[in-house]
Amino acid sequence: GHASRLNAITQITNRAPKECGKTKPLTDIWATDVFGLAKMEEALSKNAFKAIKNTVTTGAPLDPATADVVASAMKVWAISKGAKFFSHVFYPMTNITAEKHDGFIITNPEGAAITEFTGSLLIKGEPDGSSFPNGSLRMTNAARGYTAWDPTSPAYIMHTANGATLMIPSVFISWTGEALDKKIPLLRSNAAMDKAARKVLSLMGEETIAPLNASCGAEQEYFLVDEHFAHLRPDLLLAGRSLFGAAPAKGQQFDDHYFGAIPARVQVFMQAFEDKLYRLGIPAKTHHNEVAPGQFEIAPYFESSNVAADHQQLMMTLMKSTAKEHGFLCLLHEKPFAGVNGSGKHVNWSVGNATQGNLLDPGSTPHDNLNFLLFCGAVIRGVHKHGGLLRAVIASASNDHRLGANEAPPAILSVYLGDQLESVFNDIKAGKLLEKAKGGLMDLGLSQILKFERDPGDRNRTSPFAFTGNRFEFRAVGSSQSVSGPLVAMNTMLADSLDWIAERLEAALANGTDKTAAVIVVLKELMEMHGNVVFGGDGYSEEWHKEAVEVRCLKNLPTSADALPEFKAPEVIDLFVNTGVLSKDELFSRFEVYAEQYILSLEVEAKLVIDMATTQIYPAVTQHLTHLADVSQTLSGLSLSLENTDLNEAVEQANGMMSAVKELKVALAEHNFASTEEHMSFSAKTLCPLLLKVREHADTLEGMVADDLWPLPKYQEMLFIK
Ligand code: ADP
Ligand code: MG
Repeated sequence: GHASRLNAITQITNRAPKECGKTKPLTDIWATDVFGLAKMEEALSKNAFKAIKNTVTTGAPLDPATADVVASAMKVWAISKGAKFFSHVFYPMTNITAEKHDGFIITNPEGAAITEFTGSLLIKGEPDGSSFPNGSLRMTNAARGYTAWDPTSPAYIMHTANGATLMIPSVFISWTGEALDKKIPLLRSNAAMDKAARKVLSLMGEETIAPLNASCGAEQEYFLVDEHFAHLRPDLLLAGRSLFGAAPAKGQQFDDHYFGAIPARVQVFMQAFEDKLYRLGIPAKTHHNEVAPGQFEIAPYFESSNVAADHQQLMMTLMKSTAKEHGFLCLLHEKPFAGVNGSGKHVNWSVGNATQGNLLDPGSTPHDNLNFLLFCGAVIRGVHKHGGLLRAVIASASNDHRLGANEAPPAILSVYLGDQLESVFNDIKAGKLLEKAKGGLMDLGLSQILKFERDPGDRNRTSPFAFTGNRFEFRAVGSSQSVSGPLVAMNTMLADSLDWIAERLEAALANGTDKTAAVIVVLKELMEMHGNVVFGGDGYSEEWHKEAVEVRCLKNLPTSADALPEFKAPEVIDLFVNTGVLSKDELFSRFEVYAEQYILSLEVEAKLVIDMATTQIYPAVTQHLTHLADVSQTLSGLSLSLENTDLNEAVEQANGMMSAVKELKVALAEHNFASTEEHMSFSAKTLCPLLLKVREHADTLEGMVADDLWPLPKYQEMLFIK
């Protein structure tokens, strides 16, 4: 029999939650491991603090003398927290977080150990750029790169089993100034958005003092599986999802998991995890069960997009390591279990500042309403013009399993506004508001929308991009992804649209048109060109798929192989080059890296399928068959026979599985591709279906082979036993 799987079940059902002691009050632990403005104010002179505060809030460069003072204060603080090492943390083009650790220690001529940390060490580090994927940029002389401190994101202490390390959030840049990471484009996109937004606001007669910032609040879904099961599933360990597994008798059809009671061991994990987040100044706010069994969600309160993106990365790292401490494997994959609800990361996004507030908030005065309509219109135009780009920034082999399935947003990008706001924009489009507007400021009653849309019960859940009362929510983002790519796309398309709006608004105002009428005129043109993207119906329905493509001419890009080439589309190149967010080389290098990752992850899955089918599933099947054959023989010696042994069917399935494995091997050996695009499309159209073909046979066999012989933990075990 297969002792290890059954043994795992016994182990898990007998285990108790990890002892964690009592947690401390929030005020005792909040941001204790962060070197933020409050700590700097305590540690620095008035002048030095003023300089660094200016840098932190406006992104202005820091002079070397101040950098030295800050570095020294940071070092003293970090050492007092037990740190012996410091590390620049950066975000290469993949979704990972990278670190390079250095000791504070140097020895002096007398052989004594002293610590050193100067402004230049704080500001600049030198990892080896060539060991991180940099796409076509490695073809230039920019193979090596360096990291540079991003003072707008605070340094912090990371505690691990081997001690504490001072972590310094950084950008990663080539010697020739090209962005090799996900942070630089995010900072640039925010700057482009700020610049364009100021133009519009100043035409509206507003003085903008504080920089405008994009905000992000990301809702993270994840699965927890007990480590005893995970260790028996190479697919979960190496690919992050199950490549085999028959559907359980009890799935999520009962819908009893959502907001249900959280199992005790999971509760203890969540508490420990959230305490870590609080120490790091990450405002974890809600946690609950999700739709699928074994699935959970955590959503921190929103922050400025740059800090939110860093915190999101840190959260994913801590989630995995804390889960491990509690005997779980944390799965961030978008579709760990076929036939069970997948995981997403809803990216809530708005723009604003301390003086003007949130510009995507309709507000209560007619004047606020106008600004809101302009910014909301800019988003509508952006999603319409750059739906292809928005699809490309959420493309990955793993998210392909989710998009387009009947649970997650479809792969077609449309905008949901809600009934009331949609009718306002439709009235604008139909010219109904123009006459009214000529009378000066008018009340559109938009404050109603706030009240209505904030009620989650009334929201359309099938839309990939929805207005939710005071922000947009990009729901098609994958759970394992960095939020930076989606934020860059949103900020940049907004910058481009606000530029377009500013140009037309300026012309209309120069004609002597009254401000309210000018806004309506511009929005009327915008809606005539881009209103097609607004859709309030059922995004999952077949009618919508047909209408979207055939009537509205929206793009439907079902796989990453279809979506990633959008990075090279002429309108996307123009968008990034004109806004200064990415050069053409930088953009193309991203295509290369993402395409390579797509291809590689499917290859890894193909190899795992071959291996698991051959060395785990097939032997279990033959053992089962041997047993059945023995029994049949014994019985026939007694002139008896067994009916319903399914012997023939099992042999047929086993042969079918192994011949599909053979086909998969042949496909995997194919290396002759004219282009990356061709290779991607081969992976999507040939490899993926073959993976499924092997799986179908294996999953059928799972229902035939004696339970105690089956080597892989089954779906109902992994999902329901905690
Ligand atoms: P729901 O599940 O109803 O969509 P949650 O409360 O789980 O909502 O998550 C909403 C997320 O949106 C939170 O992270 C929240 O902080 C964030 N959010 C709220 N207001 C804004 C805003 N103006 N800009 C960006 N994010 C926001
Ligand atoms: Mg949400």
